[in-house]
Amino acid sequence: MKKTMNQKMELKKGLILAWILLWGYILTASPPIHQDLEIISTEKTEENVIKLAPLKLDRLMEWKNRLYFIISSEEKVLLQKYGITFSVERPASASAPENITHGININGAYHTYTELEQEIRDIENRFPSIIQVKDIGKSLESRSIYAVKISDNVSEDEDEAEVIFIGCHHAREWISVEVPFLFIKHLAEQYESNTSIKSLVDKSEIWIIPLLNPDGLEYSIYVYRYWRKNMRDNGDGSYGVDLNRNYDYMWGIDNVGSSSNTTSSVYRGTAPFSEPETQAVRDLFRDRNFQALVSYHSYSQIIIYPWGYTPEAPPDSTLHHQIVSKMSDLMWAVNGRTYSYGQAGQAMYLTNGDTTDWSYGIYGIPSLTIELPPIDLFHGGFFNAEEDIQSIFNENLPAMIYLIEWCISQHESGKT
Ligand SMILES: [Zn+2]
Repeated sequence: MKKTMNQKMELKKGLILAWILLWGYILTASPPIHQDLEIISTEKTEENVIKLAPLKLDRLMEWKNRLYFIISSEEKVLLQKYGITFSVERPASASAPENITHGININGAYHTYTELEQEIRDIENRFPSIIQVKDIGKSLESRSIYAVKISDNVSEDEDEAEVIFIGCHHAREWISVEVPFLFIKHLAEQYESNTSIKSLVDKSEIWIIPLLNPDGLEYSIYVYRYWRKNMRDNGDGSYGVDLNRNYDYMWGIDNVGSSSNTTSSVYRGTAPFSEPETQAVRDLFRDRNFQALVSYHSYSQIIIYPWGYTPEAPPDSTLHHQIVSKMSDLMWAVNGRTYSYGQAGQAMYLTNGDTTDWSYGIYGIPSLTIELPPIDLFHGGFFNAEEDIQSIFNENLPAMIYLIEWCISQHESGKT
């Protein structure tokens, strides 16, 4: 009897030890959880801007002549060393989502990778004649990157206008998954009853990648809400490449629009298209004949077009301006929310190796980045309440339709 007790004790000790070893492994194998991050702000003076540029901090926003960043304790020391005065706004150690007050799951109404996969498969099963889900590549952690094709005679490659919408290059921008996803659902469910949707789908091939960075999204949901990059192990203890700095057009042309520092939130990777996620987009473009691209991000309520790598205007500046001003008007008309617009390198900040410079630079097609709501950090930053998802989609819908119609008219007039 006593021996059995001892054996049980030993077994229990063994289990505890195994548990500790397992967690030790998980914690050391996972990217570091940044518990010490803080949101800070500093005055936007010329002197500060110059001093801040080489630090490549994780920039959140600019508001009322102040710049907001997420910084680590090491970066805090650097700011002090460079004599940059700043105020700490609040800790950014949000491992659990903020502003998600409903729903059973941690991500509320927002989709995890698996939930999204399930829903797009369901839509495909319900509407097989117009919806096809295609696996266009695997992420670093072997999740599928899905592109959903929407068209009449969907299994055929017809001579029709082609448009692409991409969501979630950046993990923490959850709303950028929901808007393209809801567009898939809307087109599928409205096709039979809504004649203008039917005509749109019949005359075009609409491609939607709702979630380009599945590994990053999962990490943002389950581990660290502010994660931005993919999950590349950079081999030096740091993780992640900024997928929206990894495209092969003016890639790494300077260290302002992207960073060669692996720990940076805008780290561009070791080479253009070094990441399987951006390779999936590159390869899809090779096979298709797209006439326009939209890449969804958050936040800021702004529509921007190339160039991002330079403040100089692109050759098709007038055309881009016409398209985005029309889109902005259509978006405002729905809920009265203003989306400002302009050339990326002027209206936002310099970027290089981003999606739209590449799709415009290589393919010459109208290429837009839409920064979804909210407008700033004080209205939620990367966190949109669940009840806002539908209204954000609703106001984006007419602009999406307008862009597809524009592509159809170009195609029909033989310009593409
Ligand atoms: Zn983004």
